[in-house]
Amino acid sequence: MSPPGRRQGDDRSAHEAGTPMPRIAEIAARLQAYDPQALSAEAVGEFLAQLVTPVRETESVGIFDALGRVLAADLVSPISVPPHDNSAMDGYAFAGAQLAQGALRLQMMGTALAGKAWPGQVQAGQCVKIMTGAVMPAGLDTVVPQELVSLEGEVVSVPAGVLQPGDNRRCAGEDLMAGEPALRAGERLGPAACGLVASLGIAQVEVFRRLKVAYFSTGDEILSMGEPPREGAVYDSNRYTVHGLLTRLGCEVIDLGVVRDQPALLEQAFRGAAARADAIITSGGVSVGEADYTKAMMKKLGDVAFWRIAMRPGRPMAVGRIPAGEASGAGEAVLFGLPGNPVAVMVTFLAFVRPALLRMMGARQTAPVLLKARSAEAMRKKPGRTEYQRGIVSRSADGGLEVRTTGNQGSGVLSSMVQANGLIVLHHAQGHVAAGDAVDVMMFEGAI
Ligand code: AMP
Ligand code: MG
Repeated sequence: MSPPGRRQGDDRSAHEAGTPMPRIAEIAARLQAYDPQALSAEAVGEFLAQLVTPVRETESVGIFDALGRVLAADLVSPISVPPHDNSAMDGYAFAGAQLAQGALRLQMMGTALAGKAWPGQVQAGQCVKIMTGAVMPAGLDTVVPQELVSLEGEVVSVPAGVLQPGDNRRCAGEDLMAGEPALRAGERLGPAACGLVASLGIAQVEVFRRLKVAYFSTGDEILSMGEPPREGAVYDSNRYTVHGLLTRLGCEVIDLGVVRDQPALLEQAFRGAAARADAIITSGGVSVGEADYTKAMMKKLGDVAFWRIAMRPGRPMAVGRIPAGEASGAGEAVLFGLPGNPVAVMVTFLAFVRPALLRMMGARQTAPVLLKARSAEAMRKKPGRTEYQRGIVSRSADGGLEVRTTGNQGSGVLSSMVQANGLIVLHHAQGHVAAGDAVDVMMFEGAI
């Protein structure tokens, strides 16, 4: 979490004023018990929230292009929605105070249609036939649904005890009040928000510009598409999962391919990515025993921390900043150096990178929503690390949520991510799970 007194807006103005963004060492000094060799998942989240800052640039887009974008300023409603009191039912409108008398016989004086106000005035003992959505005639506050009344010519009989004054009337401004914020800055616009914007008669919204994220895979054993298989080599899958995850987030993606393990090529890839993108995501080459040049190049070019996270799968991760450098122009990018294993890439992305990118996108809600489900099986778990198990959530016989694991939890078993519909999150301090225990689940819906 940010230290007290420091808000998102402060970060942005600091950035604007050209103040250098915090260095790794500064953030580390601010965090309690920072141990890069044994970081808790929670500490990683706190660190990244301090490392990244929201983009500043905004643009105006039409509603159809606004889906998934983040609102840059509060959207104040210019009108009330609905603009007038109107009927929620097809029925008969009358003054509800008369209900105190018990059963009523009301003389029908006319018809109010949706989109066409009925201009007359009615007295006690009278009513107006009204359609759903039609403006309530002056002085009337209650609608009796047509199925509750009996009709004799123009006389409507309302039985006693079937409704209260004010029933079946939608009040002006009950959805949105003129002059009040209909949506707050930082709202990620979903289909409902797009419709809400339209309901205000607003065609364009001011949103943060899209985040640019460059990514590449590293490792000499990684084959690009089209290369013939060779002993000890595997096809690159990480670029494709990362591409999908970023696209789901609404980022502009810059695919830099598989970068061979040669210092000059790695340097060119990092510098070029830093010049063009807000963030760089790499996979592979960050674990302790790495023989290749990836780590060395990150260290040489940027302000980068190499972590061992108390988690499974995942563990190694590099984070920091890479400057574009003289030759490539200005700018710098946030670096997320993910482990190489295909499942570890997806898990570290969902647990850490996604919330950090959402923060960079200007979104207010960045943490994933966790659901509770009953575990269908026992799970062994050591306290002192966070474990993410691939889970399949379904409805149990009693109507609650139940989750079972996909079986083999190897960090290279990508098929388990395909089978799963969520990640079971076994928290840092948590121990073994017995069958029937409630566990937290991060659902994939919308993210994967
Ligand atoms: P590393 O983190 O570099 O030690 O890689 C861990 C494991 O992930 C190794 O078995 C790699 O072959 C595998 N791996 C690394 N990068 C990729 C990739 N882009 N696609 C598929 N597997 C990968
Ligand atoms: Mg490697």
